[in-house]
Amino acid sequence: MAVDLATSTLDEILGKAAKEIPLKRNELLFLLQVSDHKDVAKVFKTARSLRERYFKNKIFTYGFVYFSTYCRNECAFCLYRKSNNTLQRYRKTDMEIMKTALSLVEAGVNLIDLTMGEDPFFFMNQGAGFARMVRTVEMIKKSTNIPIMLSAGVVPEDILIEFKEAGVDWYATYQETHNPELYSKLRLGQDFEERMERKRAAKQIGLLLEEGLLTGVGDTDADLVDSLEEMRKLSSDQVRIMSFIPQKDTPMQNFSQVSRAKELLVIAVMRLVFPDRLIPASLDVDGLNGLAERLNAGANVVTSIIPPESGLAGVSNQSLDIEDGNRTLGKIAPILEECGLVLASRDDYEEWIQQRKELFAI
Ligand code: SF4
Repeated sequence: MAVDLATSTLDEILGKAAKEIPLKRNELLFLLQVSDHKDVAKVFKTARSLRERYFKNKIFTYGFVYFSTYCRNECAFCLYRKSNNTLQRYRKTDMEIMKTALSLVEAGVNLIDLTMGEDPFFFMNQGAGFARMVRTVEMIKKSTNIPIMLSAGVVPEDILIEFKEAGVDWYATYQETHNPELYSKLRLGQDFEERMERKRAAKQIGLLLEEGLLTGVGDTDADLVDSLEEMRKLSSDQVRIMSFIPQKDTPMQNFSQVSRAKELLVIAVMRLVFPDRLIPASLDVDGLNGLAERLNAGANVVTSIIPPESGLAGVSNQSLDIEDGNRTLGKIAPILEECGLVLASRDDYEEWIQQRKELFAI
C-alpha cells in the first residue's frame, strides 16, 4: 500500500513538472529521496522530455582553458588550495591562452570557459593584474566572436564591467552550497555574502550567470532544495552540480566517496525546476565514462573539453582523460549519438544566449 501511495505521489509530482507547474518544497524533497530504479528512470524520462521541449536533441559543448592553477584561497575540498605545496602549478601566458582558445574554437566548441583559481597575480592592487587578461579576452573575441565565460573567482565589480566590455558573456562563480555554516567549512575564510553579491552584480551589468553546487560534502536534501531556490532567485542561466571527489593532500582527503546517484537525481530535478536553462554534464568528475548517464538525467551541456597536449589541467580531476584525447568533440559525438542526441551548432548556441540576454536587458 505504501509503495502504491509513493508511486502515485511520484506520478502526480512528475505530472505537475511536465506541465511546468512550480513544485513545492515537500515535492522537491520527495524527488530527492527517490531511489527505486524504476522511479528514478521515470524522473529522468520527465527531465529528458522537458529538455527536448526547449532544446530538441541538441547538446552544447564548452571548451575549458584552466589558465592559472595558483590560488590565494584555502577551500577545504580543493587540490589547488594555497597551502598545497605538493602541486606543480602553472600560469599560462597570453599567447598560450590565445592559442588554446583558438584551437578549441577550431574544433567546434560553442563557448570558451576561461578559468583560474584566485591567482594573487591577477588580484593584486584591486585587480590591476587583470589588465592583460582583459586584452586577451578582447583579442579572442575579435578574432573568433566565440561566446566567453569567465570563471576567475570573486572578481571586483569594476573589473567584471571591463570584461563585459571586452566581450565576456558569462560569469561563473560557484557557491557550492547555500548553507552558510557548511559554506564556512568548505570555502574557509571566504565571505558568503560577498560571493552572492558579486553574482547579483554580474547579472545587473548584463552578464549571464552560472551557479554551481557540490554534493557529497555534508550537504543534506534540505540544503539542496534551498540551493535550487537561491538559484531561482539569482535567475541563474546555467545551473550545475558535481559530486565531490576527495583530493589527496587536502583537509577532506579522507571524506568518503559518494555514489553518483545523488548528482544524477539533482541534474534531473534541476531540469524539472529549470526546464529552459543550461545544465552541464561535466567531464571533470568521471570523464567520458560518466557522460551518457548525465545526459540521460537531463543535462544539455558538455563541459570541460580540453585539447590534448595543451598542458592544461582539469578542476576536480587534474588529469582525467586529458592527455589521451578523451575530452574532445570527436570522442563525445558517438556518445551523443547513442543517446539520440547531436552536437549543437554555434548558431544554435548564440541564438539561445541572445534570447536569454534579451530577457534581462536593462
Ligand atoms: S576552489 Fe577555487 S578558490 Fe577554492 S582553493 Fe580551489 S581554486 Fe582556489
